Amino acid sequence: MDLNLTSEQVMLVDTVRKFVERELLPLEEGIEEKGYLEPELARALFEKSRDNGMYAMNIPEEFGGGGLSALDTMLVEEQFGHAKDILIRRAFGNVYEVLLGANAVQRDRWLLPTVQGERTCSIAITEPGAGSDAAAIRSRATRRGDGWVLSGSKHFISDGEFSDFFIVSAVTDPDAGSRGISLFLVDKDLPGLVVGRNQKMMGLTGTSHVELHFDEVPLDADCLLGAEGSGFGQVLKTLGRVRLAQVCARAVGKATRLLNMMVSYANDREQFGQAIGGFQMIQQMLADSAIEINAARWLVWDAARDIDNGKDPREKISMAKVYASEMLGRVADRAVQVHGGMGYCADLPVERLYRDARIFRIFDGTSEIHRSVIARSLGRHGEVLYGTA
Ligand SMILES: Cc1cc2nc3c(=O)[nH]c(=O)nc-3n(C[C@H](O)[C@H](O)[C@H](O)COP(=O)(O)OP(=O)(O)OC[C@H]3O[C@@H](n4cnc5c(N)ncnc54)[C@H](O)[C@@H]3O)c2cc1C
Repeated sequence: MDLNLTSEQVMLVDTVRKFVERELLPLEEGIEEKGYLEPELARALFEKSRDNGMYAMNIPEEFGGGGLSALDTMLVEEQFGHAKDILIRRAFGNVYEVLLGANAVQRDRWLLPTVQGERTCSIAITEPGAGSDAAAIRSRATRRGDGWVLSGSKHFISDGEFSDFFIVSAVTDPDAGSRGISLFLVDKDLPGLVVGRNQKMMGLTGTSHVELHFDEVPLDADCLLGAEGSGFGQVLKTLGRVRLAQVCARAVGKATRLLNMMVSYANDREQFGQAIGGFQMIQQMLADSAIEINAARWLVWDAARDIDNGKDPREKISMAKVYASEMLGRVADRAVQVHGGMGYCADLPVERLYRDARIFRIFDGTSEIHRSVIARSLGRHGEVLYGTA
């Protein structure tokens, strides 16, 4: 398999890397201190990103996006992954590919303004009683006249405080299991919609994670995204690519940043009259991190190549999710160790990168759920040389 990057791809990576270093990373300390990204800084970052052609690069050009292939999206997301989540959201956008299923009316009302950065959205699937088992949701949309009324609750909805609308999963046919779930585009200012608590997290400072409460929220007919009952299928079909980009590729970026910090510290820090990088036990931590980062990167690129070739690499994405997220955890742990006490001290970014790393094994499907997906597919295909076809 030839995965050498073209000169255009190398240039793309270099451009995004410099943009992230120049515009995103210097904002991180302020976010940690204040606990949020100041709205005027968020606006300025979005405008710079848009003017540099970085916003919504993952969306096809016909909808006003950057039109990147899946592989190019991964290259870009890896570079953005060096930065904090909230900064990526403002600079790259939250334009979920599931919105590409919009009809003509929905395109004008939700998709195009989102690609242009005039509107922002969150995806709202998880409920207090339904996490890994996303088909067990209780939120219910019932027909009223031409439209619907929505009742129920969601939680952990990322960026919910900032979003103008939500892509919400709800049961439309309680007797049809996962085929009775539909997706709705729900504007934040509708009556009956209350944005609840901002749920404080271990890391990801600056990103809000909110509860949503729907009490008979009236939705017009255009709010139904895709066909009735197709919500679960739409999510399965489109969130794989999002997961590969937003979790796996970003995990590779974050781990690379941590490795760079480790190397630099190991060269500078002296104990027993020499740089600690001269000690073999430190070298092993650096070497293992480099090996695992490269392995994760190749899993991401391989799955992305399949997407670009029109295949559905569901199991490969699960493999990349498990490996990249767990690899990030190991690299973050080594980074703290190499930095000694300074790794545990909030004076250096290693401490918060370690906390930020922990969520990667949980959101977008836990390691356990993705391992189940992989194991089930092995039973189905029974192949030893899995994934070579
Ligand atoms: C910071 C953050 C941001 C998030 N952002 C969003 C968002 O924007 N939108 C959204 O909809 N959701 C979001 N989520 C929700 C996230 O996707 C869920 O937390 C995740 O899917 C796990 O669900 P759960 O927390 O209910 O855990 P549970 O499903 O209760 O799992 C608990 C434990 O049981 C294990 N387990 C469950 N089922 C099985 C099984 N069959 N086999 C083996 N082990 C199993 C799990 O792996 C886990 O270890 C976010 C969560 C967090 C923490």
